Amino acid sequence: MSNSAETELKHLKMAIRYLVGLLEEGSLVPRYDEATRQEIGMVLQHLLHKVEGLPEGVPENLVLTTAVRAIVEAASDHDDAAQQEQTDSLERQMCEAEAWASIHGHQLEPWEQVVGSAMEYQTSCETCGGFVYVSFNSSYNLLLETCERIKQE
Ligand SMILES: [Zn+2]
Repeated sequence: MSNSAETELKHLKMAIRYLVGLLEEGSLVPRYDEATRQEIGMVLQHLLHKVEGLPEGVPENLVLTTAVRAIVEAASDHDDAAQQEQTDSLERQMCEAEAWASIHGHQLEPWEQVVGSAMEYQTSCETCGGFVYVSFNSSYNLLLETCERIKQE
């Protein structure tokens, strides 16, 4: 006696949701790279959702396409998250540079985006011309310990 299709589907969904949880948590699969685990988990979630949304009598090739679309969407989620992380990090670098400059008496110009790069900014001190560059993962601070103007006063 085999289960009804409905029961089988219910069990399959339950097992897939559990698998997603296991992948996210990771202790059963310590060999899997964390980013890959999370992305496979995302693919499965997208897949479940898409399959649920398929209309009755849809051709088989369109069912198979949901797998490809799930992978593409998970990759795009991943890119968005990475992008957000970089933007946050860039803002942090800017705030730190501004705080440092202000403590040392510099007056920074507004930040300017480095030509050709969305994730790099530069500015300089209005008074002494000292230069600061930040990207999402690095910063170069060529400001003097004390702004020249302060020294002269
Ligand atoms: Zn200065």
